[in-house]
Amino acid sequence: MATHTFDLVAVGGGSAGLVTAAVAAGLGARTALVEKERLGGECLWTGCVPSKALLHAARVASLANRAGDIGLDLPRVEREQAAGVLEHVRQSRLRVRDADAVEPLLSELGVRFFYGAGRFRTPREFEVGGDVLRARHFVVATGSRPRAPDLPGLAEAGFLTNATLFDLPALPESLIVIGGGPIGVEMAQAFQRLGTRVTLVQRAPRLLPRDDEELVRLLEERLRAEGLDVRVGAEALRVERTPEGKRVVFRQEGGEASVVAAEILAATGRQPNTEGLGLEALGVGIGPDGVQVDARLRTRVPGLWACGDVIGWPQFSHLAEYEAKVVVQNALLPLPVRARFDRIPWATFTDPELAHAGWTEAEARRRGIPVEVFRHPFGRDDRALVDAEPYGMVKLVARQGSGKLLGAQILGPRAGELIQEAILALDRGLSVRHLADTIHVYPTLSVAVQRAAQYWWKARSDHPLARRTLAWYLRLSRGRDV
Ligand SMILES: Cc1cc2nc3c(=O)[nH]c(=O)nc-3n(C[C@H](O)[C@H](O)[C@H](O)COP(=O)(O)OP(=O)(O)OC[C@H]3O[C@@H](n4cnc5c(N)ncnc54)[C@H](O)[C@@H]3O)c2cc1C
Repeated sequence: MATHTFDLVAVGGGSAGLVTAAVAAGLGARTALVEKERLGGECLWTGCVPSKALLHAARVASLANRAGDIGLDLPRVEREQAAGVLEHVRQSRLRVRDADAVEPLLSELGVRFFYGAGRFRTPREFEVGGDVLRARHFVVATGSRPRAPDLPGLAEAGFLTNATLFDLPALPESLIVIGGGPIGVEMAQAFQRLGTRVTLVQRAPRLLPRDDEELVRLLEERLRAEGLDVRVGAEALRVERTPEGKRVVFRQEGGEASVVAAEILAATGRQPNTEGLGLEALGVGIGPDGVQVDARLRTRVPGLWACGDVIGWPQFSHLAEYEAKVVVQNALLPLPVRARFDRIPWATFTDPELAHAGWTEAEARRRGIPVEVFRHPFGRDDRALVDAEPYGMVKLVARQGSGKLLGAQILGPRAGELIQEAILALDRGLSVRHLADTIHVYPTLSVAVQRAAQYWWKARSDHPLARRTLAWYLRLSRGRDV
């Protein structure tokens, strides 16, 4: 057995492990990465990339089907016309993989790759294949997998998860999505727009429970208007096989109801990949959400770190990247940093998109912070109107008085891009006044963010004292001119 010595070894070649290895090697550390299957992880193969490729195709289909709104007479896109979409989705993964070229790029930085599912012998030794990797620091970045619901009959009937969805040979005629979180909602809309008849069954009283309620309600309205059958407050009870297809029986409003479809997609949460690594034997704490870490992303065992989906919520690629940087800094550099999860941003890439940063109005009020909320609907935004997409609104949550930005939520076209300005403002402790006073290019959708912020000025100038002072000054200056 060959033994190799490194400063740091990342276990897992998804977003978290790849960034860990790249940053560590970039700093000059002797670095290795262990991957059991293929580089790229969930995001590339079964997560962000294929889901966004599918959503894009679905958007194009939807635009074609709404072309009449802008005076274009285009043929309708039905499921038959969308037959090539899943192959396009699979090709998109390969295009992104080739463009990212992570293995050559990281090899150039000096990262050594080891393939296989290994396990820890000691906190300083990891065995993989015929090799033993010794290092001062190991970073567990083994990600997560779908957590299937414990529903009687589900396994017997057969179901899809994000791990199998993109390998379907064809778009199903009908689909029941169980779970109204970001994955369930995105996939439900995408398949519906591509001609599959979709029912979305969500146990909670609304979709996307972590997002702003007002905006989620607006999104629900849009999804229903497009024909998606959205059942909220509907708890799936069991699955039955019938001659017509797979029947999901659920409890809603005190009674039982059911819906039948060709396929079921389970999008009911994630489970951390912690098994088989020998972590428990080392004394690493593992809870139901994953590897337990402190604010510096240390496990209980010195020299053992964890980041990405394997540590639980928040499970996003950009968070995996952020956490990986925190880990490397703490492991290799003298000044420790704490990971901050209080104001994380995310987006759900439905159309319109729903983006979130910082606190919602409800969260800020729960913390007892006096807030002002500034809204601007895309129905009054010039660009959204000329693009015939006047859906949703910008919502800015600011501290009463000072206007310091505490949060932003946007439901609208390209909200995932628009939120970036608010993320920067939050990060730098800016106020809505800064957003209002910054020149925004016209006509862009981002003008809606500026318009929302400008209500801060309006609230100030509407104040009786401000109005009296202004009136007095204007009278005075008129007098001077005469
Ligand atoms: C359908 C879907 C859509 C998503 N869309 C978005 C999005 O739009 N934006 C966003 O930010 N996030 C999105 N996410 C979340 C995102 O994919 C994850 O947060 C991200 O991939 C987590 O990265 P990770 O490196 O922690 O884990 P992973 O990407 O899961 O990588 C873990 C890696 O570890 C490997 N591994 C596992 N066990 C072992 C072992 N024992 N030894 C060696 N290697 C091992 C795995 O093979 C894998 O390559 C989406 C997720 C899903 C499911």
